[in-house]
Amino acid sequence: MKVVILNGGKGTRLGLEGLPKPMVPVAGHPLLERLVSVAVRSGLTDFVFLNGHLAEVIEQHFGDGSRFGVRIDHVREGIPLGTAGAVRAARKLLTETFVVLYGDILIDVDLAHFAAAHRRSGAMVSLFVHPNDHPHDSDLVDAATDGRIRAFLPKPHPADAILPNLVSGALYVLEPTAIAHIPTAGASDWGHDVFPAMLAAGCHLHTYRSIEYAKDIGTPERLARGEGDLEAGRVERASRRRARAAIFMDRDGVLNTEINGVHRAAQLELTAGAGAAVRRVNRAGIPAICVTNQPDLAKGLMSIEDLGQVFAKLDTDLAMEGAYLDLLYFCPHHPEAGWAGEVAELKVRCDCRKPAPGMLLLAAEEHCIDLAASWMVGDRYADIQAAKAAGTKAVLVRTGHGGADRDRYDCEPDHVASDLPEAIGFILNAMQ
Ligand SMILES: [Mg+2]
Ligand SMILES: [Zn+2]
Repeated sequence: MKVVILNGGKGTRLGLEGLPKPMVPVAGHPLLERLVSVAVRSGLTDFVFLNGHLAEVIEQHFGDGSRFGVRIDHVREGIPLGTAGAVRAARKLLTETFVVLYGDILIDVDLAHFAAAHRRSGAMVSLFVHPNDHPHDSDLVDAATDGRIRAFLPKPHPADAILPNLVSGALYVLEPTAIAHIPTAGASDWGHDVFPAMLAAGCHLHTYRSIEYAKDIGTPERLARGEGDLEAGRVERASRRRARAAIFMDRDGVLNTEINGVHRAAQLELTAGAGAAVRRVNRAGIPAICVTNQPDLAKGLMSIEDLGQVFAKLDTDLAMEGAYLDLLYFCPHHPEAGWAGEVAELKVRCDCRKPAPGMLLLAAEEHCIDLAASWMVGDRYADIQAAKAAGTKAVLVRTGHGGADRDRYDCEPDHVASDLPEAIGFILNAMQ
């Protein structure tokens, strides 16, 4: 699999003179060397460099790649072709599934794992996505709960919009068939031109949601932040080479008020202090993961589209407080029949409905979570039981059901807190 790197950036905002943007030194090494290392760690050693501004600097530094133990083809664009147009110019070199990276991002991503997920999805294009703390002024991706992309939501967004907090990380895996969707003349950009046109043509585009580190360093402030993250070990700690502790949170009665069935976005309301509590988790660099039973899908009381809107409202309300969930898992099942509009195929015994630990185990497997070092916050003993079955420590909160189902389970939480903010304070202290 080839790795295509877009090296056309001028780096004007970084004040670079005589250096193209991808050659900017980041904590002592040119960014582009770091990108090559990331690919090599993923087992990928075949590169296509799409060079533009000061192409000769990159060509001279890397040559054919042998000094770095890799193979590099250099393609020089005469006039700027945009992020997609530049890839089209190299189309003869791209006959199999390939990766595209922008030359101004600092990442530590397992590209082979990304590509494997891409192949399983059967999509033509997969986009690396993650939440951020300012989705209201970011270009966003709207995806169905199964990860299939439905729309691109470019900024600016209406002030009252309900926004899914998914931002594209300038990192894609593509099938060569995607190249046919790039305009043959003029400049074109993946995010603004080609991906929306592909969606309109019915192509399958998919999200790859990850908690690995991927941030652009295109301004002096972002560059300084990226260097700080590298030096503090935050970039490597977020990689798949390290198992990470996470904080799992139940949704209803913990993050949002329990009303015995949130079926519409407008019904969702955060519990007091939930936004600030999740923000503390985010700032500590710990993955915030929601794991929620949603049996009303199986009971036919809401549709999967309704649930997607409710999750987007949760994202939106958290974003108002500068907070976000890194990952969200839900169980759509319910074991007992007897509801008028129930959905037969969801009326099953599953291993994901809490008190079963399936959602925590899946998160751990997909994202290298160290369950023994992780914590769960829930308002039911079903949550505590799920945590214990996964080998995770647990805090019961007195909001929502407040542990009213105690008699049904033979387990105890490690701590009891009045609400989510108190629970998070306790956990962050215990994780030190
Ligand atoms: Mg609950
Ligand atoms: Zn389930």
